[in-house]
Amino acid sequence: MNLASKKGKKGKSSKKKKKGASKAKKIDLEKASTAFFIMPAEALITLRAELSPLASDLAVRAILFRYGFRSGESCMQRLGIKAKEEKFPEVLPDLWDEIGLGRLSLKKSKKESFALQLNESIEGNVMGEVGQASCDFTRGYLAGVISQLSGKRYHCREEECISRGDAHCKFLLNIKEKRGEI
Ligand SMILES: [Zn+2]
Repeated sequence: MNLASKKGKKGKSSKKKKKGASKAKKIDLEKASTAFFIMPAEALITLRAELSPLASDLAVRAILFRYGFRSGESCMQRLGIKAKEEKFPEVLPDLWDEIGLGRLSLKKSKKESFALQLNESIEGNVMGEVGQASCDFTRGYLAGVISQLSGKRYHCREEECISRGDAHCKFLLNIKEKRGEI
């Protein structure tokens, strides 16, 4: 009886509080830190355009690479996936399909070196033909994903790009030797 009346009281007062309580107080911090949204492809172009007056072309490309790297790395951290290099041929294309930056296939792999082909690069498409490789966010994302999966620091270079007039984009990934290169 005591318990019931206590419960009743509690229920009433919490109901009252709920009505008047500010929504800002209800934010679930754990959820907020793991939530993510799909970024429209144009956002990459906007970001590049906003950075351009502030930094050199090389610096803008490095920032986009680093932003991509952090995004790819944290996406893998959220998913909690780890994979050794020998598992990459089966793991990477499926994983990349979920990410949605183009269609990825592994062309060559040695112990710690990979050649990856990306068809229909979203970033390359929105950039258009600008005469140079321009999938810098994607390049960073790939390096971040592979680094987080393997637990080793990988670097990524784009050797062919649709923005340069090539038929597809091609990335070369290997263990980065010098820290702070980009
Ligand atoms: Zn490209």
